[in-house]
Amino acid sequence: MNIELMGIHIDKDSFIGALDKAFNLINGNKVAQVITINPEMIEHAGIDDNFKQIIDEAEMVIPDGIGIKVALKIKGYNVERIPGIDFARTLLDWCAKNGKPVAIVGSKEEVIVKAISNLKSEIENLDIVYYHNGYFDNDNEIYDGLKSANARLILVALGSPKQEFFIYNAKQILPPCLMIGVGGSLDVWSGKVKRAPKIYQDLGLEWLYRTICQPERFKRIFPALPKFLWKTILYKNSHK
Ligand code: UDP
Repeated sequence: MNIELMGIHIDKDSFIGALDKAFNLINGNKVAQVITINPEMIEHAGIDDNFKQIIDEAEMVIPDGIGIKVALKIKGYNVERIPGIDFARTLLDWCAKNGKPVAIVGSKEEVIVKAISNLKSEIENLDIVYYHNGYFDNDNEIYDGLKSANARLILVALGSPKQEFFIYNAKQILPPCLMIGVGGSLDVWSGKVKRAPKIYQDLGLEWLYRTICQPERFKRIFPALPKFLWKTILYKNSHK
């Protein structure tokens, strides 16, 4: 089941429901793509048809970020927000428990190395069969490495939309697995970037915390959300 927001279809599943779907895809027989959608990505899809097509063809599109939750609320839908970082972390736990090999691509070398070492010490039996930093010129070399590693879950941290294009192109090349773009998650898992305290997360105010910590983000982030919400209202009215 999904809901449409500015021409983009978003899954309506709860966190648990989405996990269930992802577990099935990890056990499945094709390469599946999970997109953790946020307002910036929807804006980008509006000006880039190729990006929109990738989202249209994704096996899962989950609502990350408070902007999506609020916009859907305006449309009359109550969805559970699914932060991509928590979703990916739960998938790692599940893979470790179920003997599924994992690969990770993205971020700076020191970040990915530290993130993997932290994850391995936190998650018993986590089997990371391949990793590569996110600064490479030849995608095919990485696809070759992934192909021989044969992981069932692949996390890709290249930022958006780069990671979505990288995953989409991999669909034609890799053996069956689930791939998910995880943005800046490795920066958090490495300890390089601090996540907002739990109270901010629970209230959907991580953006506010980040703005307080980095006031220079204010000019970029603050006008974007009301503008996005306004657009969703206009879109709703003009497409009735
Ligand atoms: N990144 C990368 N290769 C690139 C560009 C970005 O590996 O060519 C990594 C970057 O090091 C960071 C992550 O992608 O760890 C997310 O980057 P950013 O914060 O710009 O993306 P966002 O989370 O805002 O989508």
